[in-house]
Amino acid sequence: MDRKEAIKLCICRLCPTYIDCGEEIAFCLSTPGKSKCIKLEKGCLCPGCPVHEKMGFKYVYYCIRGNEKDQPGRK
Ligand code: SF4
Ligand code: SF4
Repeated sequence: MDRKEAIKLCICRLCPTYIDCGEEIAFCLSTPGKSKCIKLEKGCLCPGCPVHEKMGFKYVYYCIRGNEKDQPGRK
């Protein structure tokens, strides 16, 4: 799935952690991934997102912890 399609399906805007500072959503597929303004983890809706399921993603909090590719290396 490309990022454009993911942005249409992404549910970050409904998430309690989400802060709108004009960034594109679908953080799971973005580069570098992390948001510049979202810092506090207040719950993540990614496990219920159609993109997460279709892509077989494993991680959460992409906006804070980085995209799906970057997270396996983080502690
Ligand atoms: S998995 Fe999370 S970051 Fe990725 S599109 Fe869905 S809600 Fe957005
Ligand atoms: S990546 Fe997860 S925690 Fe961050 S805004 Fe999207 S749903 Fe919320």
